[in-house]
Amino acid sequence: MAKQRILITGGAGFLGSHLCDRFIREGLEVIAMDNLITGDLRNIEHLFKLKEFEFYNHDVSKFVHVPGELHYILHFASPASPIDYLKIPIQTLKVGSLGIHNLLGLARQKKSRIMIASTSEVYGDPTVHPQPEEYYGNVNPVGPRGVYDEAKRFQEAMTMAYHTYHQLDTRIVRIFNTYGPRMRLNDGRVLPAFIGQALRGEDLTIFGDGSQTRSFCFVDDLVEGIYRLLMSDYVLPMNIGNPSEITIREFAEEIIKLTGTKQKIIYQPLPKDDPKQRQPDIRKAKEILKWEPKVSRAEGLKITYDYFKSLPKEVLYHRDHKNFDGFIR
Ligand code: UDP
Repeated sequence: MAKQRILITGGAGFLGSHLCDRFIREGLEVIAMDNLITGDLRNIEHLFKLKEFEFYNHDVSKFVHVPGELHYILHFASPASPIDYLKIPIQTLKVGSLGIHNLLGLARQKKSRIMIASTSEVYGDPTVHPQPEEYYGNVNPVGPRGVYDEAKRFQEAMTMAYHTYHQLDTRIVRIFNTYGPRMRLNDGRVLPAFIGQALRGEDLTIFGDGSQTRSFCFVDDLVEGIYRLLMSDYVLPMNIGNPSEITIREFAEEIIKLTGTKQKIIYQPLPKDDPKQRQPDIRKAKEILKWEPKVSRAEGLKITYDYFKSLPKEVLYHRDHKNFDGFIR
């Protein structure tokens, strides 16, 4: 029997590349699509030798053509760190709007099941805690995060519209903060920022007073949740994340302990609209998918630190956001 085929947009990115690995392991043919704005071919170079793997260098906000059958589409292409989407706001809006339209059209034509990557950012700076899927959110559409948050909210609306009006087979995953190997060291996110600073012997920068909270999920757990959701018949949005919540100050202290750095913590202004708290309510995932995270932060951080330590020096000192810092605050 011919293998099933899956298209993964954003396939050279952090999450996309882990998804490529997973679906190759599940015995599918994988087509990764990426325009490499924030993705990196090094994340998937180990797959190029496989006949089950193909890579298309393409921007999904332009018409998407894939020859042959497609059983599944995962739309994971998007800048996803606050600094990235501030640097490229128009592309962020386009990939979330024009891009999803192209992929939903492709899914209709190929009769594929399509999953879109949504985000805890749809809840904005939440006034309900922890955040259940039924919470509508508290988003500032014209603030710095609006380009990402509203693109993702539009994606959800568009996906539901295709589900309702075209009976398309859709899934929506709301992804909370996730970490692990292949994050970009300099994407501005808190974990690579802290580990990068520790490795370079710099002070750790906390934005605000560090009392804001996040809940960090190890990438393998997230991928398992995504896989189960895709294989389920649940079409409404579902949170996937780790509910273990921590303040950014405690998180910095954990990184200091893990890396053994002698550097101190320094405080910088909090970026505008930075959510004060975030924790997924994962009751739905537990009940419907029988899924919950398994990897503790201690284990996950160790694996991630070992990955960052193994990177070549030039990666450690390469900063694409050198002149950009401060713009968002
Ligand atoms: N943060 C920080 N120092 C840094 C980078 C980020 O204190 O060098 C904070 C940021 O202000 C936010 C939290 O860490 O409160 C998580 O930021 P990240 O960009 O990783 O993701 P977010 O959850 O805000 O999208």
